[in-house]
Amino acid sequence: MDAFVSFHPPATASHEAALLDTLRARAPRIVHRAPEAGDDARFHPLLIGGRSWRLARPTTFTPYASSRPCSARCAFCSENLRTERGGVPAARLRPDGGYFAGLGRALAALRGVPLSWSLSGLENTDDPAWLLRLLDTLRAAERDGVVIEDRVLYSNGAGFAHAQGAVLRDALLRFGLGWIELSRHHHDGATNQALMRFRAGEPIAVQAVFERVLATLAGAFPVRLVCLLQQGGVRTPHDVAAYLAWARAHGAGTVIFREFSQLDDSYRDNATARHLQAARVPMAPLLQACLADTPTSAGWLIESLTEGYYFWNLRLRTGDGLQVVFERSDYAAMHRRHASGDVYKLVYFANGELCAGWEPGHEVLLDTRSPEPAHG
Ligand code: SF4
Repeated sequence: MDAFVSFHPPATASHEAALLDTLRARAPRIVHRAPEAGDDARFHPLLIGGRSWRLARPTTFTPYASSRPCSARCAFCSENLRTERGGVPAARLRPDGGYFAGLGRALAALRGVPLSWSLSGLENTDDPAWLLRLLDTLRAAERDGVVIEDRVLYSNGAGFAHAQGAVLRDALLRFGLGWIELSRHHHDGATNQALMRFRAGEPIAVQAVFERVLATLAGAFPVRLVCLLQQGGVRTPHDVAAYLAWARAHGAGTVIFREFSQLDDSYRDNATARHLQAARVPMAPLLQACLADTPTSAGWLIESLTEGYYFWNLRLRTGDGLQVVFERSDYAAMHRRHASGDVYKLVYFANGELCAGWEPGHEVLLDTRSPEPAHG
């Protein structure tokens, strides 16, 4: 760990670049998540769909959850972004009777490949029967030779507040879940509901219910609370301090403050894209302001700086042990990597396609419904 943070904001116009330079010099540990193209040791050979690929390590596999529309309706939901190249969006696909057989075929093609399970998409816990069968299928794949390093669930918590919540929690324990990233974008219940807009009748919208779910989950797994910075939500050092105090009081071990992903011009100008533009709160200036604000950051220690293939984050530790992460991502960088010819991400969609990115119909590695291998 570094010494206690004392920070003087850089005076250049390019705040983020200057901040990153400062942090690179200060962080006791820098993690490079993305391999350089020439670093063969960081790639795993992958033969799939009749073609050879290089798989960048570490790579996560996401069985994209879309069996039901999400229990929330966040105006900033990236699942409602649309790219110019078109196709049916993942969020609109629903699994049919062949879904799990196809998933089994995709996983069989990945035997021996080092991966991590990253359970995301829409809300995994909205359909408990689907999630329980998914966990069984993934465990069977592990027994069958898929090599798994980490297991993470991204959730808004909704399903844990329903009758089967304890069943899901126990199944995730048996699954060996490493941690949960639990979305809650404000520490005040009414403000959070204005941002996340849970559907009528969802118990998780109620602050006391969420806090009970959080405490229960935190008793079973490491819980990382995810707070998207935004207008109308957390956007000042005072907000950050209040969120951390609330998170600490309810058992979270980590809080991640994340900026809306930076879009590139491949996205259509729809309502979601306009909202992301209008409500964005840049992470770098807020981080600078927090570090310069003694009441907020007194006692914080810098632990590490991670530079990923399309994101970077700074991990800090508060004086009483809470981990705080500030994170930013850039979809232009993600798209450049996904178009590089190497594989950085694996997503299995409800239409049976295994893809090297987030769009069904594009970067298809294997179409489990096709009798012929996919090419291109
Ligand atoms: S909880 Fe997640 S998937 Fe659901 S609407 Fe909000 S951002 Fe989208």
